[in-house]
Amino acid sequence: MAKDHPTVLVVEDEPAQRDVLTYNLEAEGFEVVSAGDGEEALLLVAEVVPDIIVLDWMLPGISGIEICRRLKTKSETAGIPVLMLSARSEEVDRVRGLETGADDYVVKPYSVMELMARVRNQLRRVRPAAVGQRLEYEDIILDAETHRVTRDEKPLKLGPTEFRLLSTFMEKPGRVWSREQLLDRVWGRDIYVDSRTVDVHIGRLRKALCKHGGDDPLRTVRGAGYALG
Ligand code: CA
Repeated sequence: MAKDHPTVLVVEDEPAQRDVLTYNLEAEGFEVVSAGDGEEALLLVAEVVPDIIVLDWMLPGISGIEICRRLKTKSETAGIPVLMLSARSEEVDRVRGLETGADDYVVKPYSVMELMARVRNQLRRVRPAAVGQRLEYEDIILDAETHRVTRDEKPLKLGPTEFRLLSTFMEKPGRVWSREQLLDRVWGRDIYVDSRTVDVHIGRLRKALCKHGGDDPLRTVRGAGYALG
């Protein structure tokens, strides 16, 4: 199964609440991994690298606040949006929640629809193509909703893998992606694919992008991987 769905990590110790969250997030098309305590959550963050974390405040062991603080002080995880859940609604708690670096805050009991809207809102910043945004890079336009790509207003034909590669690049122009990172993002980490496969699809993407002329926008970074621009 190819992975173009964002991964959400749900950290909640109450099984019933965890199930409700998982069910609703999966219904929205997200991949969901879940943890029942802080230790497991920190291990999963390192292993799965989720696109967003829904984090309960009150957990046994390491609290949600402490987990959030740790994630936000490490450069590898600081960019992952954290949506904090709490049963306490006092203003002071809200402030503390945001001071730990949480990106958003929802008070229990919450409406599932509101929570989903907040999750999508956070993902719009970090995975715009994955939530159906239109991306632009120079004369290239990628519409994630309709799966259409144009360059200089001319439509381009891309295979599904090339489309996912291009949306990954266009979400973060300039970022250098290693073959391993591209395999995880585009093919999914459960699939065994030779890293040379990445080169083959990059070659196809380049050909498609330059079909009607224009410079090759993809850059090969020797020993590191590929980047857009
Ligand atoms: Ca709890």
